[in-house]
Amino acid sequence: MAITATGAKVCIVCEDAKETGIYLYNGFICEECERSMIETDTSDPKYQFYLKQLRKIQLPVQTQ
Ligand SMILES: [Zn+2]
Repeated sequence: MAITATGAKVCIVCEDAKETGIYLYNGFICEECERSMIETDTSDPKYQFYLKQLRKIQLPVQTQ
């Protein structure tokens, strides 16, 4: 999937390969994007972009 030969992961937000970041379900978010998301005001148009990118994460399906 989003894992390269070097071990870097592709961030779902900026779509760049990064070494450090967090996993949110099956999506990887790099450190920089994580930080800027926290700092971005919800009224900022940039925040809508982050939300759109986060929608790519497939949430676990509840089976029971
Ligand atoms: Zn990123």
